[in-house]
Amino acid sequence: MVYVDTRDKSIQVSFRDATLWGMNPQTGGLFIPGEIPPLNRNFFLKDCTPSFRNVALEISRIFMGDEIPEEGIQQIVAEAFPFKIVVAPLSEFTYTLELFHGPTYAFKDFGARFMARVMSYFNREENQPLHILTATSGDTGSAVGSAFYGVPGIDVTILYPKGRISPIQEQQIGTFTGNIHPVAVEGSFDDCQFLVKQAFTDVELRKTMRLSSANSINIARLLPQAFYYVYAARVVQDHALNDMDISDPEIIFSVPSGNFGNLTAGFIAKELYPSISGFVAATNSNRTMPIWFTTENYIPRPSEETLASAMDVGAPSNYERINAMYFHENLQKNVASFWTDDDGILNAIRNCFKTTGYVLDPHSAVAWAAWKECLACFSSGKTDYFPGQDYEIFPGLCPYQPQWTESVQKKNAIGIVVSTAHPSKFNDIIGAAINRTVTVPSKLQRLMRLPITSVDIKNDYRDLKSILMSY
Ligand SMILES: *Cc1c(COP(=O)(O)O)cnc(C)c1O
Repeated sequence: MVYVDTRDKSIQVSFRDATLWGMNPQTGGLFIPGEIPPLNRNFFLKDCTPSFRNVALEISRIFMGDEIPEEGIQQIVAEAFPFKIVVAPLSEFTYTLELFHGPTYAFKDFGARFMARVMSYFNREENQPLHILTATSGDTGSAVGSAFYGVPGIDVTILYPKGRISPIQEQQIGTFTGNIHPVAVEGSFDDCQFLVKQAFTDVELRKTMRLSSANSINIARLLPQAFYYVYAARVVQDHALNDMDISDPEIIFSVPSGNFGNLTAGFIAKELYPSISGFVAATNSNRTMPIWFTTENYIPRPSEETLASAMDVGAPSNYERINAMYFHENLQKNVASFWTDDDGILNAIRNCFKTTGYVLDPHSAVAWAAWKECLACFSSGKTDYFPGQDYEIFPGLCPYQPQWTESVQKKNAIGIVVSTAHPSKFNDIIGAAINRTVTVPSKLQRLMRLPITSVDIKNDYRDLKSILMSY
């Protein structure tokens, strides 16, 4: 498989180069698969739901089989996903896809763990370790650190702004040991990012160590996220008759989105497995993408702080990929869009708990609210779904209709709410919404008691450099 540059499709690189480069520094473009063929016919057979592992293997062979042999792929997949994935019915026409049973209790484990093992594989022939240097404002640091922990041939340094991330996040990032080195910087997240940039442009440093960034735009982080869409779609197709008395449902995924990597992976999954009918792009008040989907005007804005903080992105980097992969009219045919504010998030947690007993985290709550709104609007058969409000100001569905809305009206569509984080990580918000909290898993409790091991540095590049040189 070749990977093409979003800004210049004549630039084609191998999976190895796309992974190790992250982006193309010459064009500023990101990499996307050159083609996405549908899966083998066996995957469309009824009544033989494959395991998640088998789906992951089958799709991995398509995207990297010409560069990594079968044993390599098997090992990467086995080591990347040693945790459960839950697909369960929630209420009428609605399932939840729980992606938060990995080591950091959020779905970013899927992308980060797979990427870590792919990088380790490609680094095997090098005689120098690869050093990952990254700055985090909270969530990604724990996923990246945990993903690379104990992975041979790779060291990781994670910079975070001291005292400016949540206590749980500091506990998750600051307690790493072994090949993961947490560094607490006296400064802001932007200061951390600037220090990292200085290191990447330091010629002297780069002569002594092989640096890489492993950031969220890496294609090796995106592809594994397609696995769970295909798997969940197959599970629901096979179980819907028993669970909901619906045979041959149309499958719609409602995706809580920030940087839009997860939704982009969903689009890749739909090419692989066209039985997936469509998506709902669900965001918090950071509504750059819903507005683009509706109007074709892409207007990035500064990010706004919300209760679903991992989705606080005003200029999503995967706009670049989606724009290169789709004509705008095809987007509207497949994807409804929705945004909601903090009140909407609290209401969703409350309403879902009241009607189903299920507790959503604030991110998944956005996706649940979006699908609820689709059911309410599209099932009525009315044509004036949208009461003429200005959707750029008032939360809700954006005023256009994808093709699949007809199947919602015919009661033949099932929405799968993509659930991205364990609710116990947000017990303060859950408590505010429903006056109770969720049990914190014992592994997370144990983590809360570990000692902080991070090295403190001033906001001074010389401090960072002397640490890096000392490895
Ligand atoms: C990162 C994140 C998201 C958003 O995913 P994108 O791929 O950036 O759109 C949603 N929920 C949680 C819990 C996250 O950590």
